[in-house]
Amino acid sequence: MQQSVMKAWWDSSHMAGGNAAYIEELYEAFLEDPNNVSDQWRSIFEGLPKVDGVELDTSHSTIREQFKALAALGPAARATSNAPSKTSTSDDKQVKVLQLINAYRFRGHQHANLDPLDLWKQPRVRDLELSHHNLTEKDFDTHFNVGSYAIGQETMTLKDLFTSLNRTYCGSIGSEYMHITDTEQKRWLQQRIESVQAKPEISREEKIHILKGLVAADGMEKYLGSKFPGAKRFSLEGGDSLVPMLKGLINHAGESGAKEVVIGMAHRGRLNVLVNVLGKNPSVLFDEFSGKHDESLGAGDVKYHAGFSSDFATGGGNVHLALAFNPSHLEIVNPVVIGSVRARLDRRNCSDGSAVLPITIHGDSAIAGQGVVQETFNMSQTRGFQVGGTVRIVINNQVGFTTSKTEDTRSTQYCTDIAKMVQAPIFHVNADDPEAVLFVTKLALDYRNTFKRDVMIDLVCYRRHGHNEADEPNATQPLMYQKIKKHPVPRLIYADQLTAEGTIDAHEIEKLVSEYRAALDHGACVVPEWRPMTEHSVDWTPYLGHDWDAEYDGTIEKDKLIELGRSIVNYPESVKLQSRVKKLYGDREAMLAEEKLLDWGMAENLAYADIVSRGTSIRLTGQDSGRGTFFHRHAVLHSQSDGAEYMPLQHVSENQGRMEIYDSVLSEAAVVAFEFGYATAEPGTLTIWEAQFGDFANGAQVVIDQFLSSGEAKWGRLCGLTLLLPHGYEGQGPEHSSARLERFLQLCADHNWQVCVPSTPAQVYNMIRRQAIRPMRKPLIVMSPKSLLRHPLAISSFDELTDGIFHNVIDEIDDIKSEDVKRVIMCSGKVYYDLLEQRRKNEQSDIAIIRIEQLYPFPHEEMAANITNKYKHVKDWVWCQEEPQNQGAWYCSQHHFWGSIPDGAKLTYAGRTASASPAVGYNAVHNQQQKALVDDALTL
Ligand code: AMP
Repeated sequence: MQQSVMKAWWDSSHMAGGNAAYIEELYEAFLEDPNNVSDQWRSIFEGLPKVDGVELDTSHSTIREQFKALAALGPAARATSNAPSKTSTSDDKQVKVLQLINAYRFRGHQHANLDPLDLWKQPRVRDLELSHHNLTEKDFDTHFNVGSYAIGQETMTLKDLFTSLNRTYCGSIGSEYMHITDTEQKRWLQQRIESVQAKPEISREEKIHILKGLVAADGMEKYLGSKFPGAKRFSLEGGDSLVPMLKGLINHAGESGAKEVVIGMAHRGRLNVLVNVLGKNPSVLFDEFSGKHDESLGAGDVKYHAGFSSDFATGGGNVHLALAFNPSHLEIVNPVVIGSVRARLDRRNCSDGSAVLPITIHGDSAIAGQGVVQETFNMSQTRGFQVGGTVRIVINNQVGFTTSKTEDTRSTQYCTDIAKMVQAPIFHVNADDPEAVLFVTKLALDYRNTFKRDVMIDLVCYRRHGHNEADEPNATQPLMYQKIKKHPVPRLIYADQLTAEGTIDAHEIEKLVSEYRAALDHGACVVPEWRPMTEHSVDWTPYLGHDWDAEYDGTIEKDKLIELGRSIVNYPESVKLQSRVKKLYGDREAMLAEEKLLDWGMAENLAYADIVSRGTSIRLTGQDSGRGTFFHRHAVLHSQSDGAEYMPLQHVSENQGRMEIYDSVLSEAAVVAFEFGYATAEPGTLTIWEAQFGDFANGAQVVIDQFLSSGEAKWGRLCGLTLLLPHGYEGQGPEHSSARLERFLQLCADHNWQVCVPSTPAQVYNMIRRQAIRPMRKPLIVMSPKSLLRHPLAISSFDELTDGIFHNVIDEIDDIKSEDVKRVIMCSGKVYYDLLEQRRKNEQSDIAIIRIEQLYPFPHEEMAANITNKYKHVKDWVWCQEEPQNQGAWYCSQHHFWGSIPDGAKLTYAGRTASASPAVGYNAVHNQQQKALVDDALTL
């Protein structure tokens, strides 16, 4: 069929086998971009053979052979490759012209005028020269077909085309988009860029708006510089266009239907953005410079990490703005922002991202250097983490602290090359041309809104001062700073441009500058678009002011619990379960019929069912969270007949909360940061991250240290995120035994979070429900089990669940008379069962074993009332743990243990000796150690 199409064309064509070189070139142009060739050629090339719908990797010589073969089907004269060429010189040139267009689309950015300091050493790109395409100025007056070049004309003289290409692709904007494989996206971008030659007409009003933004950006820094000389402010100077850019972006977002914009940025330029975009009162900032601070924010943070919220009036109505608080660890705030956006989108039931826009602002060294950037890009199109695209802006001041040589900072041509992994278009733009900046900004947003994908703007600028204002940049960047010293500020450059073209006169400019300065003197908000907050849709007040021991009613009727249980063992007939899963679901039915006691997986699923039935939503992510790393959860069923997924927890009751479980990308840092962002934006959803093995949380250490443990103390932001971290010594070696309990305990203070080690199904059920039902929002760190998931003793009855109480301490369960007790062993987690079994074997009745299920905040009152008092005659108290002595709870919680034993009693340690590694690698040694520590604890 395809052959006949081609043959028909061939017979009617003036081409012949001898013109294969021409066809080859055309084909090459087609391969670069199908739009490069005429419709007729495109349909021919698109008709080339495919295997199972996939184009063959057809080399040019193969193509030539195919055309020769086809020619052989036609008149004999056309069959030989020796046939005289019928290609005219102008046909040849026509192809070359198309290739020239393509070369500019691919590589024009390499000749673009991007660096305000003109320090970039641009390589000479031969593809952008006429001679490379066998064209010369002699061809300038010839008209050529411009193929898909979206200038609105079919033909142009070479001269006009060449000028146009240079204007479009080598001006203040370097566009990189030809790495995108999707033709529709490429065509869309070409249309937008080429139709206006990357420089649309802009109105006087817009120009004045831009100028005002530059006046504000410059005025603010100068003001701070003169009022607080030498104080760190991480000035924006050099990247001043960011202010009109962000304002333009927010306004355009509002006009496009966005209701909220969440911004993440590091310290550079942040004070400027706070005052000139978000509308923070300058007087508040000046107070902070003078040392005053908001007492309500606890330990607080430096002013250039501060977040802020406000509303902003746009042409499409008010938009809520939230600038995320962030630590110094660069780039880590970006997944936090995106998680926060996902929460807001979920709240608004908006799945396409249109209602909330994330903007992440990066540094040039950090975006290339920090792995979390890659992780975040990788998440951008996944089910559980997508937000309809992020507008990413790099403040590319060409220096990271004191390192500016690109051979030291990265191994890629541009700092933005990482964006190509998701085929994001990248617009490099000279920050000294604010009109070009605004053009790419609107283009980027429209791209994001149209295709729901990430897009990148590389704002190429410079840094007028050192890393901070007390630094001496000449010490490390002498040549760059000699240039910067002589380089006029962006406001002056643009003001000169506007006066030269007659848009505004010098007097009016002076007036703008002095009015801005007077506004700063006055100290009130300097952003005319600022509005008081009404657009954000969540009220945090019910969650404020509670502590972990706040009263709540967690009781549940047994019948209700069984009814919930029925709903989660129910699945449609069309779902064919795998045999082991089927058995597990059968067991769950037996549990509901009270033929079996409840196991961990069932109790955990019951907790989720109860929570969603109350209308509260749940979001659970982790590397294997649907099934559970250890095959215990099976909350997501996979039908064996067609692979379809079914989640019983989504069918619990009519008006239930949203239930989402996603197997996450294989990342910890970005995923935990995302979930932190989600949980800090949505108190109404129980947000849970589960580690595959607890030690994987190491990969998210920066999030744990800088957000989770300290976010409330630094920023007053509550967060109810729960981490489920499988932990327990079962001979799996150094990497999969410990969730590093000691690290979490070491970070405990100010009741910043809860650290729990539940040991029974009833406990996990009530712990999870407590976290959702109680109005307090504090992180919950859980040392969750592995082998305990199937331990014959780790089972619970319905009655243990229905009381709704999570027991922070569990007293001895065997029939041991307190007056006979000579030793009390305190422990947490799986080792309890080892101790219990061995004591039963030993038939010892003079040792009580106490479980401390919440290690922080330590349950002093419960311990005193129920344990210390009961065993007050006992002088021998032991803390037993599986972890080496320098790890686990021994050192970090010892002061709490001492506080819980009777006066005059001694406290000793039973456990592994100190070790550099969390666990031994050999199972036999592990068993020996485990037996020894249990024996040690039980030997009087
Ligand atoms: P946002 O939507 O993030 O701009 O937040 C709007 C307002 O809600 C903030 O100004 C805070 O008063 C409050 N708020 C937001 N997030 C939290 C949080 N995690 N904890 C406590 N209050 C919050």
